Amino acid sequence: MGRFCQIDKYMHKIADNLTQVKQSIQVAARAAGRNADQIRLLAVSKTQPAEVVAQAYAAGQTHFGENYLQEALGKMAKLESLPLVWHFIGPLQSNKAALAAQHFQWVHSVDRLKLAQRLSAARPAHLPPLNICIQVNVDRQATKSGCSVEGLASLAAAVAKLPNLTLRGLMAIPNPDNSRTAFADLRRLLEDINLMVGLQLDTLSMGMSADLAEAIAEGATLVRIGTAIFGERNL
Ligand SMILES: *Cc1c(COP(=O)(O)O)cnc(C)c1O
Repeated sequence: MGRFCQIDKYMHKIADNLTQVKQSIQVAARAAGRNADQIRLLAVSKTQPAEVVAQAYAAGQTHFGENYLQEALGKMAKLESLPLVWHFIGPLQSNKAALAAQHFQWVHSVDRLKLAQRLSAARPAHLPPLNICIQVNVDRQATKSGCSVEGLASLAAAVAKLPNLTLRGLMAIPNPDNSRTAFADLRRLLEDINLMVGLQLDTLSMGMSADLAEAIAEGATLVRIGTAIFGERNL
């Protein structure tokens, strides 16, 4: 009995947090002269158990982001009956590409052609094309994953040609110290790629709990929010 009361309380907390995050999105969109309908909220559920994802779903959330493949597959199996949309947002080894292609609807962390080729080859024929964002090392961090700014145009052109993928846009995880500048740079890169390569990319995956408003001010169409919805992660 006590345990159920606790779960119930936690569920209200998640629902409240979701309401608050949506409100922050509204406020930031209005301040930027944008329509909040153009901004998708991705709930980053890494390290959260399946029960917690189910609670967020009960509170109206359908898009979830995961960083670790094995952890995500375990949750998906438990939540099979729910119509959830799963986004892979973590680093992905090429030898794990097949599993990601089979189980996710989106991969945001494509940073090299070999990975994109493997995702395309492994995408099951009965599923729609896998939605792809290219992760860009937009602020040129030495230790960061992501395609280089210089390599982006040729990678985007090659990924766009792969049969079982739909290249949707760009993703970045900039250093918090200069994230607003990096967000603006990522938006310009998206505009340049569309012009130079002749694409119609519509997705800017940028902004986390700490810099959601800055990302929206610079044109984010998808914000990836973990802590502000689920609380601090213990791991
Ligand atoms: C963990 C993570 C997030 C969410 O970060 P919060 O600060 O908890 O909102 C977003 N994007 C990526 C790629 C992440 O790994």
